[in-house]
Amino acid sequence: MFENILGQKKVKKIISSQIISGKTAHAYIFMGGEGVGKRLTAVEFAKIMNCTVNDFTEKMYIDACGECISCRKIAKNIHPDIHFIDFTRQAELENDDLEKQKTLRIETIRYMQKKVSTKIYEGKWKFFIIEPAEKMNTAAANSLLKTLEEPPENTIIILIARHKETIPQTVISRTQIMFFQPLENTEISSWLGLNYSMSDEEVQNIAELSGGSVENAKRLADGKSKKDEFSLWLKLKTQSFYISEILELSKNIARKGSALECIEAMTAEAEKDFKREPRAVALALDLLTFSKTLLLKNVNAQTVLDNLFFGLLDLKKNPGSVVE
Ligand SMILES: [Zn+2]
Repeated sequence: MFENILGQKKVKKIISSQIISGKTAHAYIFMGGEGVGKRLTAVEFAKIMNCTVNDFTEKMYIDACGECISCRKIAKNIHPDIHFIDFTRQAELENDDLEKQKTLRIETIRYMQKKVSTKIYEGKWKFFIIEPAEKMNTAAANSLLKTLEEPPENTIIILIARHKETIPQTVISRTQIMFFQPLENTEISSWLGLNYSMSDEEVQNIAELSGGSVENAKRLADGKSKKDEFSLWLKLKTQSFYISEILELSKNIARKGSALECIEAMTAEAEKDFKREPRAVALALDLLTFSKTLLLKNVNAQTVLDNLFFGLLDLKKNPGSVVE
């Protein structure tokens, strides 16, 4: 729903009034930084134009119903008239790895053009969402230009780009540019509040560091929760625990299947400590190595972690003793 997209009031307002007056453009560039809602807005735009329930000419406020078959197919990315022309599609077409896609090539634009020329399957409007448009190479951009010069009926092409420096002026001049602004701190904060459980102070910190991008905020918030989970070495070293807490901890890590990652992260932290206080940490390192060996031999992860955590806590109490 448009109203669920953070910020971007101006863009949403312009698109809404164009839809109401029946004056949408044939092609747009949605331009702005990462994680500010460009792709989401494009998808909502496609939903509104194809929604089978809403009669938006009657309304001041515009949105898709979100419930009809068309809305649901678009949300699931299985609508036959909504096409994403991006690195995922290109990798699929060329049977290549996604990570290897660095530019959008002419073959991919030609694939799009084939889809442009076929009839509409079930929607009212065909959408082509090209991303990242700034990564089209010259041949691809020139090829796209031909489609923009003879805009097909009931078709909307949206180029999603972070900047327009590498997009030829001939292409730009045949599109309408929509500028997406960085999100406000308050918008990022409220999003974080809905999606993560963290203190107000942490929410504020991340919102300030995010630079107005939900993507950045998400990375920071995920990174933080990962760090919390994997700085167990420090936790075990400095805090005291009830037996039930340790059992719960092992159970959770084992259930998530991250026992090995967890042990490796603890080993890395222990190795740092080892440089400063080798005598105190040597036995703990032995225990970590032993636990890793057991895991690799497929011993039950929860059992391995239970023994490891209790062993480390014992070592803390009696630094000289060896726990097998
Ligand atoms: Zn609908």
